[in-house]
Amino acid sequence: MNKREISINRASELKKTIEDYLAVRDSISKGLEQKDIISKRKEKIMKVLGASEKQWNDFHWQLHNRISDVDTLSEILNLSKEEKEDISKVGKNYRWAISPYYLSLIDPDDRFDPIRLMSIPTGLEAVEDNCDFDPMGEEYTNPAGSLTRRYPDRLIINVTNECAMYCRHCQRRRNIGQKDMHKTWSVLSESIEYIRNNKEIRDVLVTGGDPLTLSTSNLEKVIKELRSIEHLEIIRIGTRTIVTMPQRIDEELTDMLKKYGPIYVNTHFNHPMEITEEVKDACVRLSLAGVPLGNQAVLLNGVNNDKFVMRCLNQELLKVRIRPYYIFHAKHVHGTTHFNTSVDDGIEIMEYLRGYTSGLAIPTYIINAPKGQGKTPILPQYLISRGPEHITFRTWEGRVIDYENHETKDIKKLLGDK
Ligand SMILES: *Cc1c(COP(=O)(O)O)cnc(C)c1O
Repeated sequence: MNKREISINRASELKKTIEDYLAVRDSISKGLEQKDIISKRKEKIMKVLGASEKQWNDFHWQLHNRISDVDTLSEILNLSKEEKEDISKVGKNYRWAISPYYLSLIDPDDRFDPIRLMSIPTGLEAVEDNCDFDPMGEEYTNPAGSLTRRYPDRLIINVTNECAMYCRHCQRRRNIGQKDMHKTWSVLSESIEYIRNNKEIRDVLVTGGDPLTLSTSNLEKVIKELRSIEHLEIIRIGTRTIVTMPQRIDEELTDMLKKYGPIYVNTHFNHPMEITEEVKDACVRLSLAGVPLGNQAVLLNGVNNDKFVMRCLNQELLKVRIRPYYIFHAKHVHGTTHFNTSVDDGIEIMEYLRGYTSGLAIPTYIINAPKGQGKTPILPQYLISRGPEHITFRTWEGRVIDYENHETKDIKKLLGDK
């Protein structure tokens, strides 16, 4: 065989490795493809709420008109009597609310719709489990104000408990309560003072709740103070509004963020259906403001614990300029255990990313060690053995390779110390 023939054979072998994915990819619901269906649902919701197009596109309207009563919800989704009772019952213990926009992504007739599972309570939240509310022991890692410090050079500042939508899988639901509460300026300034006084802190994550439920001017107050700290290198904002209320990414916000870079935004997409035209526009606005975008997905039973759904999600994210960053293994938090998956599900997902798709589409799979002991990467095993002269590893296709290992030589000695 000549070189060209060998290459053609290899190419057809490679084609075969993604045939199974290509066969199911079209059946995975994607927000960018379902534009017309979403737009019909939007019209229906606007009619029920008596809203205009202008109101729909205004995040203040979206936030103030979050749906949180069963009667309005049942005008939009088909709910059985039992489902309605469950929502009311669970709602007494755990807050729920959904932005009209995010509601428009749900298929009204599908009880197993992934967006619905993430946003509308089910009776499963009331099932007895023996889980904690705070498996991360966050309450024991708060040195001042509303901080969480778990790492040497970076920490979290929590600015609010409010969200545009209350995720049913929320791992910080103990902070959510029943009422929206932004942190007071005195708590925030105590947090900022701590950062000012601890020079090793070079990275701050502004989070909540969702920091983009703050007004742009209040958020600017926090960011401006943080930026005045000389040793602070980067600011990150953790927000799910890009997913649940993309209208929030307006010009006022991006003009403000532009002034204080480098600011990184990490968001939380879990399913390809969440990536819509509105999301795409929001992401373009952010990236034109110089904000790099990352995604922190959570591995959720019934939503995305599937190697092909996850591959599709990560590819859809890149299309809207978001770089997959983490996939978190779901923690064991009271009222959310039906979302838990085996670690094997996560490892299988990672196995079918590397090699099969762009390296850019591959996040790191993370288990958070209990009690705040840190994010820990979990990988399929590639390194089989390691000795002073040899290592053995296997490739993405499972080929086992023997590879020479040499001691590192001193570069100065190699060049000669003249
Ligand atoms: C996740 C997290 C961070 C950021 O971790 P990275 O791995 O740098 O993204 C910082 N502080 C706390 C408390 C965290 O939970």
